[in-house]
Amino acid sequence: MEKKVKCPVCDTEIFSYPDYDRNLIFYTCPVCGRYELDAFYQNAKIDKNHLAGYLCHHRFKNNNFEYRYHTTLNKETCDKYREEFDNGNNTHGRPVHMDVEIIENWYPKTFAERIDRILLFLNSRIKHIGQKISLSYQETLSAFFIDRKELDEISLYSPNWKPRNADDCKYEAKYMLNYLEKCSYVEYAIGASEEEWINISLAPEGYARVDMLQKNTAYGRNVLVAMKFGEDTKPLREAIRKGIQDAEYIAVFIDEVQHNDFITPELLKHIRDSKFVVVDLTHQNNGAYFEEGYAMGLGKTVIQLCKSDTKLHFDIAQKNTIIWTTEDDIPERLTNRIKATID
Ligand SMILES: [Zn+2]
Repeated sequence: MEKKVKCPVCDTEIFSYPDYDRNLIFYTCPVCGRYELDAFYQNAKIDKNHLAGYLCHHRFKNNNFEYRYHTTLNKETCDKYREEFDNGNNTHGRPVHMDVEIIENWYPKTFAERIDRILLFLNSRIKHIGQKISLSYQETLSAFFIDRKELDEISLYSPNWKPRNADDCKYEAKYMLNYLEKCSYVEYAIGASEEEWINISLAPEGYARVDMLQKNTAYGRNVLVAMKFGEDTKPLREAIRKGIQDAEYIAVFIDEVQHNDFITPELLKHIRDSKFVVVDLTHQNNGAYFEEGYAMGLGKTVIQLCKSDTKLHFDIAQKNTIIWTTEDDIPERLTNRIKATID
């Protein structure tokens, strides 16, 4: 049964759908999107402020076509539900696992990174050049990485969060807005209500910065992996993940973030946001060829992998490729290749 509640992440009035049997609560929030928290969330070590930014920047909109949602459910269960979904059983939709590590790896570490992520966020919300969009007060706080809560007292077992002074939050939001305006990245005006707290558009310098960030290989730690997905390629996936993680990057597997095989704007966005791209060509998968071509067109480095007995397409056969015989060959060689060609 649905219940009217305050979003536990951003305080917006929303609906929640508790599932008492599984100790989970599902939420649909205009700011945080579709997400689910386990009943032990309050005690978990997830930073509530960082979660707000993460959900806002990765929001799955609440509409009839969207089956994805972020969840703190463990990865194995998410994998299982996704497989059921792909086989036509929509009981659990298409969960996308999140945990402390994923959120903290993504969360901006510096002021400059925070500014860049805000610009990318605005760019993703703005459909047409020059368009003005309005953001609610809560959305502004989440999108601009402004803490709503602070730890009252650090205790290992039950962190005690208390709300931050609202004037301080507003002051910080305005500070960020003024900074963005001074850099000529945005133009903005304060709106009439909390629902339309600011009206904002990207300015030419802002678009230039966004273009730079989307091309610039120095940005971010995400790496898109293009390969064939399925039961049979699970060891390959984990070997690639390990190779990328050991080089201190984050592997993004497209089947974990989207739910069909089509080339979607979202997939293209993931390629643009990737520092480089890793492609395994063992299964002669058309999508992987396409993704490689698109990444190369953006001037990104592509690291190719291929099983030793595969015949490669002529155009890319000459490219320097990591040839592997068993999955165990992959992690160390991939890590070394990343360190040699990217860092
Ligand atoms: Zn929310």
